[in-house]
Amino acid sequence: MSLLVVGSIAFDAVRTPFGERERMLGGSAVHFSLAASFFTDVRVVGPVGDDFGEAEYDVLRARGVETADIEHVEGGRTFFWRGHYDYDLNVAHTDDTQLNVFGDFQPKLSEDSKTTESVFLANIQPDLQLQVRRQCESARTVGLDSMNLWIETARDSLRHAIGSVDLVLMNDAELRMLTEQPNLVRAAREVMAMGPHMVVAKQGEYGAALFTPEAFFALPGYPLEAVIDPTGAGDSFAGGFLGYLDSVGSEDLSDQTVRRAMTYGSVLASFNVEQFGTERIQALTEGEINRRFEEFRLMTHLDAQTVELRSAG
Ligand code: AMP
Repeated sequence: MSLLVVGSIAFDAVRTPFGERERMLGGSAVHFSLAASFFTDVRVVGPVGDDFGEAEYDVLRARGVETADIEHVEGGRTFFWRGHYDYDLNVAHTDDTQLNVFGDFQPKLSEDSKTTESVFLANIQPDLQLQVRRQCESARTVGLDSMNLWIETARDSLRHAIGSVDLVLMNDAELRMLTEQPNLVRAAREVMAMGPHMVVAKQGEYGAALFTPEAFFALPGYPLEAVIDPTGAGDSFAGGFLGYLDSVGSEDLSDQTVRRAMTYGSVLASFNVEQFGTERIQALTEGEINRRFEEFRLMTHLDAQTVELRSAG
């Protein structure tokens, strides 16, 4: 089993009410691949510049992520994002986005990358997502994320890209924005009508909800007392979700399997936000993941029990 991700590989500058970092490893593909690496073989595709050095590669390699398809652009600079969060940690405020090497990126996948079973088109320009999708014809499960920037500036391309995938994972506000539909259930239905048969609405600290044509499942966020930096939570969720699906063979999309995928997504996202950037996931152990999975299971369990209800009067 193997899982390919294309997305941003970045340096992030982030300020939250709990501190700040001027330059740290980030990017949607990085957060995704570190989370997914606990479940399956992960290959990452994306461009970097001269400022991306061995220390950054080592973070990915330490988790066994295959970096051979990272394209080093001579003389270029790595994608840079600056953002901050106020007391509502669910809302990221973008202060600066420098596409740099992403400006001219033309994804060319190696043969190994073209034949992975699962693919995640992380948040990048939707035409690039579509270019990658077209090169991975044999993939069984393809997921996609996006953001308000692309909904505003490339809506038609994004609709095309969504039409080519099986699974969409987006913030609930972005699903509403994309479909211009205030009701989330209807928004999810509209996205499914574009092609995908699964939609996950990420709801920040409130958790995540999964829609399929036949089913609905939702999980709360893990009740953390200290959220330090939410950057990358969505990508870590996607990494846990798709990493787990790939590890069990993604043709098994039974109800129980997707519920477990939702839970692993929530577990990985909850760890990600405990420290800045990738710091917490780099130090994460399998034991910690298993314990938090079990806590989620107990937290959301409900016994079957009937009670005699009173009639009126
Ligand atoms: P999230 O999981 O939504 O918090 O994603 C956070 C990551 O997205 C950060 O590490 C940023 O480097 C990256 N990012 C921010 N803006 C963009 C963009 N316009 N395109 C691609 N990646 C971005």
